[in-house]
Amino acid sequence: MAALGEDLLGIVNKLQDLVFNTIGSDSLDLPQIVVVGSQSSGKSSVLENIVGRDFLPRGSGIVTRRPLILQLINVPEDESLPNTTHDPYRSPNAARRSEWAEFHHISNRRFTDFADVKREIENETARVAGTNKGIHRQPINLKIYSPHVLNLTLVDLPGLTKVPIGDQPTDIEKQTRNLISEYIAKPNSIILAVSPANVDIVNSEALKLARHVDPLGRRTIGVLTKVDLMDHGTNALDILSGRVYPLKLGFIGAVNRSQQDIQGNKPMDEALQAEAEFFRHHPAYRNIADRCGTQFLAKTLNTTLLAHIRERLPDIKARLNTLMGQTQQELASYGDMHFSGKEHRGSLILQLMTRFATSFMTSIDGTSTEISTKELCGGARIYYIFNSVFGSSLETIDPTSNLSALDIRTAIRNSTGPRPSLFVPEMAFDLLVKPQIKLLEIPSQRCVELVYEELIKICHTCGSTELSRFPRLQAKLIEVVSDLLRERLGPASQYVESLIAIQRAYINTNHPNFLGAAAAMGQVVTTRQEKERKRLIQEERERREKRRLKEMGANGTETPEDDEPTPLVERGEVSGLRKHQSKPLRSMSPSVRENGAGGIAASLNGTRSSSPSRFNNPGVGIARDSFLNYFFGKDGVPHQQPAPGVGARHVSQNSEPSISQSIRHPDEKLPHRPSVIRDDEDGGKASRLGGDGATQFATGGEPALTDREAMETDLIRALISSYFNIVRESIADQVPKAVMHLLVNHCKDVVQNRLVSELYKESLFEELLYEDDGVKQEREKCEGLLQTYREAAKIIGEVL
Ligand code: GDP
Ligand code: MG
Repeated sequence: MAALGEDLLGIVNKLQDLVFNTIGSDSLDLPQIVVVGSQSSGKSSVLENIVGRDFLPRGSGIVTRRPLILQLINVPEDESLPNTTHDPYRSPNAARRSEWAEFHHISNRRFTDFADVKREIENETARVAGTNKGIHRQPINLKIYSPHVLNLTLVDLPGLTKVPIGDQPTDIEKQTRNLISEYIAKPNSIILAVSPANVDIVNSEALKLARHVDPLGRRTIGVLTKVDLMDHGTNALDILSGRVYPLKLGFIGAVNRSQQDIQGNKPMDEALQAEAEFFRHHPAYRNIADRCGTQFLAKTLNTTLLAHIRERLPDIKARLNTLMGQTQQELASYGDMHFSGKEHRGSLILQLMTRFATSFMTSIDGTSTEISTKELCGGARIYYIFNSVFGSSLETIDPTSNLSALDIRTAIRNSTGPRPSLFVPEMAFDLLVKPQIKLLEIPSQRCVELVYEELIKICHTCGSTELSRFPRLQAKLIEVVSDLLRERLGPASQYVESLIAIQRAYINTNHPNFLGAAAAMGQVVTTRQEKERKRLIQEERERREKRRLKEMGANGTETPEDDEPTPLVERGEVSGLRKHQSKPLRSMSPSVRENGAGGIAASLNGTRSSSPSRFNNPGVGIARDSFLNYFFGKDGVPHQQPAPGVGARHVSQNSEPSISQSIRHPDEKLPHRPSVIRDDEDGGKASRLGGDGATQFATGGEPALTDREAMETDLIRALISSYFNIVRESIADQVPKAVMHLLVNHCKDVVQNRLVSELYKESLFEELLYEDDGVKQEREKCEGLLQTYREAAKIIGEVL
């Protein structure tokens, strides 16, 4: 039979098991029971009785020579071993079913015969402490697994000896004393102070040692062994009743198996039976028989342990509550388990779906509780796309940079037909501005795509821990929303396309913000005037410088009288032009406008310019090219006839040599035809030197523009820019609105319905609610843990 009470055994083992496996090994802090006493006082025998198994080497002389740390580990009954063939009730040394021992020093071997355990202890003792009588502080660790033991640690220690024998050192007594003190000093150790009854108690080394570490006798249990060996006529009644030596936990008398019993293999239960008989029939102990013997010792240990556990309970309880709360919280993050039943699958799916849709919507609205502070997300990101990405990409479009002077001139010519235009080539403006509006389409479409991509991203972040439990459902939800978004991408993109097409369909030159021909003219003139003025000043300076040098060469003196005319010319021309320009052209009647502008044009044409430099739009790089023209033209090095080989090569490369040829001739009828027509070679130079202008001039000889053409080109550019800005503003305004309406808001509005109609189908439930294995395991572990905590809490309730 088990020496410790089954009731406590059950409770404490369960509790400790739970606590061991969950809270952490030491939290129950069960006491160690340390057995101390002098040599051969019967320590090992007492220990054996407590465990209920016969496994410790005993005998006269020094047997226990190393500390034995004996861990009793409770295991369930059904964990049986195949090789336990002995009848447990016949053979005391044979292991019972489910009982085995393991040594720390041979961890891979299970001892099922306790006779082997005994032998191994002897061998291991000898291995470290020698075969003679020496002791050693290095402990032997032995674990006994049994369904009949309490999870408890017992420590058997070498006995105290006064006189060194064998190869014991001279200070053997001191060594042993220190060793024992080390073990019993721990506050959670219960000291079993073993004193043999046949030796005077006042000489008890055990009590002496115990008093040292436990002066109030709170955790010391006095055990009086060998009560059967007392001299006839003497008894231990005074000691056992606590009159001789005060101990709170009292003295308990015991009769262990004698050496003879051990050698005769007297079974444990028989020995215990005999002990009980002894006290019951002994005249001195008859009256206190129920407070004597190993049984009572075990009971006292139970009570002590229980008291100890009670002391620890508030702590354990508090810890359990914390753990329970944490676990419950974790479990809640996996979702509501009330929905796990089959009949609830629909509502679970509906609930998860709604949460997903809500999360999607709140992310867009920016009302989500989990807004990142590290990067823009959701709605804010869409806003950023509209304002920063889209807005600035529209801003960077230069509406005329892809139009060469030649393109414009060709457009002007084509639009006027055989006759030269009166003045403002409206048709040409129409013709040219429409393709420019198309430049807005790519950024607009990109805007739609970016928002679409952002929405896709948002729908990927709408999951939760709960949803991650059902990866297939999550994937499906994302899929349906992605489909919805993709579906809306077409209409949104088409709408944006038509926004551009609409703008191209009708060029509203009556738009209040449109510059208008006259104002554009004014702008062009101002710019040109500025340049012309600067040029004239420069020319005059050069002229004067030349003359002065000449005169200096002639008479060595400077003649300042020539300085006068220039400023006059400058002033006169400039102010005259300014007068025209400063007129409020827009307010004029169309005819006046035409005439006025025409007048300006005429006066511009009238101002004699020796330079062909008329390309004044700085954005196109024409000015630089004209600069080259200027030089080549002035030098009179127009290589009209390129080297035959070079020319042939270029002709073959150029698509329309005849066109460029034909373009030159009509110019002749104009009064100031530029004298330079660059040939291929010059084009090559231009491309090397001219940068931007290179491409358009490298096409095999561009005829220089006449003044009028140059001005018309500038005018067209100004008009295009002005009109383009109007359209750009409108597109910048309308595209985000369209995207919001057709893509973002639409998806927000229908997402819930779409999810329900696509996924809320009985036939899909099974598939959708497939639980992710990893999450499932986590959840189940969590559930198990919570269950454990609840049980532990219940056990604690029972103990109290
Ligand atoms: P230890 O050295 O303190 O561990 O003492 P043991 O348990 O080895 O016992 C020493 C010897 O005393 C052994 O031969 C035991 O059989 C014997 N012995 C121990 N307790 C009793 C007892 O209560 N009565 C009798 N008759 N012999 C005992
Ligand atoms: Mg011993």
